[in-house]
Parts: sequence; C-alpha cells; structure tokens
Amino acid sequence: MNQKFTLTLPYHPSYSIDKIKSKINEILSKIPIKNIILGCDANTTYAKDVIDYFHEHHIRVYLRLPILCGNTKDRIPMIDMEQKQTARACPSSLHNAHEIIHLYETSFANLPFDGVFLDELQSASFVSSYAQGFGCFCDSCEKQMYSLDLPYIKDLIQRHDKNLLRGEYDKYGRYHFADYQVNMFYKRKAQIISDLIFKLSAYFNSRKLIVGVNVLAPVMAYHASQNINEIGKLVDFVQPMMFTKGCNGMSKEYDAYLQYFEEGHHFSKHALEGLLSEKSMRRQLDYLSNINANVIPSIEIQTEDDHDQISVDEVLEQLHMFHSYATLALCGDLMKIDDAILTLISNALLVS
Ligand SMILES: [Zn+2]
Repeated sequence: MNQKFTLTLPYHPSYSIDKIKSKINEILSKIPIKNIILGCDANTTYAKDVIDYFHEHHIRVYLRLPILCGNTKDRIPMIDMEQKQTARACPSSLHNAHEIIHLYETSFANLPFDGVFLDELQSASFVSSYAQGFGCFCDSCEKQMYSLDLPYIKDLIQRHDKNLLRGEYDKYGRYHFADYQVNMFYKRKAQIISDLIFKLSAYFNSRKLIVGVNVLAPVMAYHASQNINEIGKLVDFVQPMMFTKGCNGMSKEYDAYLQYFEEGHHFSKHALEGLLSEKSMRRQLDYLSNINANVIPSIEIQTEDDHDQISVDEVLEQLHMFHSYATLALCGDLMKIDDAILTLISNALLVS
C-alpha cells in the first residue's frame, strides 16, 4: 500500500528545531509523511528552519489558520440567538475576512509555506450552547436572510420545535430539512460559510498557495453550516474530522444536538444502531466517496480529552476503515506520537 500521511505540528514554546528534527527522523523511519499542518504564531522562531527541513524531505507544509475562533480579538464577534456577543467571530463580516488576510500578510507571507489549512470554519455548534448552535444573528448575517421568515424560525428555536430536526440526508451527507423555512435558513447559513471560504481561497490561490479546509464529519457538518460538497469545489482539499472520541468527536456534537429537544427521535433515527456503529460509519464513508473533491479523512491518534483516550486497537480499526484513501491525516501533536502507534501504522502499511 502506498498510503501517505498528513501530520500536525502545533506550536509549543518548548519545541526546538533540534527536538522536531529528531522526532521527524524517528517518524520517517517508519511511515511516509506527505503533508505537515504547522501551527505557529508571529513569534515562532523555528518556523522558517522547520519548513526548510520538511522541504528537504519533500514534505508539503501548510499554515494552520483558525478563522472563526481562537484568537479573534481583532474580529467582529458572532451574536447569538439571544443577542449576546460570543467569543467566536461573525462569518459574514468582510472586516473579518480582511483581518485574516492582514494577519497572513504581516506575520506569515515571508515564510515559504506551500499552502494554508483553514480551520474553525464552521458556525458554532450546540457544544457551545443552544443559543450559539443556530449561528450568528448580527445585522450583517440577518441581512443575508432577508428572504426568510426569520420571526417564524426564531419562534421555532425558542420552542425547541421538532421542525428544527426533521429531515433526511442526501448522498453527499447534506441534510435536507422537511420544513421549507428551516431548510432555507440552513441553506443561507451554509452559503455564508461557503462565501467566506470562496473569498479566502481566491486570495490564497492568488498567492500561489494550496488551500485546504478542516470540516466536521458529514453527519454533523451541514448542521454547523458546512456544505462539504460545495466547499470541496472551492478549495484544493477538504479534511473531514472522522473522530470517534474526545472533545471533537462526532458523538459529542451529535449528543449536544439532541439534548435540547424532547422529540430527538426525528434526528436520532438516522443512527438507530448508534452513531459509531459499523452501519453508521459505512454510511459516512459513502457520503465522503460521493463528494466531488479531494478528500483527506482525518482520524485521531491522540485526543485532548484525558478521560477519553484512543486505544491502539481503535487506531487500527480506523486505519482499516480508511485504507482506500491515498492520504490520511493523523490528528494529534506529532511530537507526542508514541512508538506503539507508529509501529502499528508501519505494520499496517507492510501487510496491506
Ligand atoms: Zn454575523
């Protein structure tokens, strides 16, 4: 098997170029690395040396850029359903798009990145709160919903109405809501996110940079305003988070979604044997295979949740599930990959 891997190197003040080189050599002796997603800030002193080192090994390096959350102090905030400011940024604000470009130009444009990896580009989910789960209600976002009956939508939200759940997935994993107004509401929300990706992608492509986007697993992506099939047409690759565990796992998002509705069966019927059952996961794989884009599934090798760590057997299961993909992203800090996992992946490559 010729499967190659994308790894992530977040910024950490204790990392040095020597430590990184030594770890990379250890990893390269076992598995082929195709891409690195590099987290850095304006003060990351090792960035240039690290990028040069990866290039010597024919590895592409992408700058991770968090867009709607993270350090958003210079961005216009998202306003939730209750008209409260949130820590997230508004997705329709032109100022916010310009601010991201300004950040790139002032801090990173002189570094030899091959591309950018746009992260945190979904609207808030119910993991944040019920009020945030329906996205931004600032004047700019509401203007984009001019053709909708917004008072009707807001009334449904306030009543936790089942019409906010009823619907069916299509073959791309996009959810079609049975209620016309709710469907149009989600369509506009997804369009706002796609428009932002279009703007950013056009800019970064003009700088001769490859553009990738991190997206949720198909089962939850559209509910957080990501129309993966549409996004795939705007960028060079999409990286769906097929996480089964930890804080970003599909179940966390799914459970958070359902907890606010008494009539959750309108939604949970789509995963009757459990969201992570073989049947459900196979359906997710079908959605991904229908998406008209370069898809790099992302699986976890570590989680940020100490109580919900992924086991070596679970990693093996995931490797089997995604064996047909030419590139697979292994999510977690590459500096912390343990030897057992590396050996396991190396052996899986040898036998297949
Ligand atoms: Zn807004």
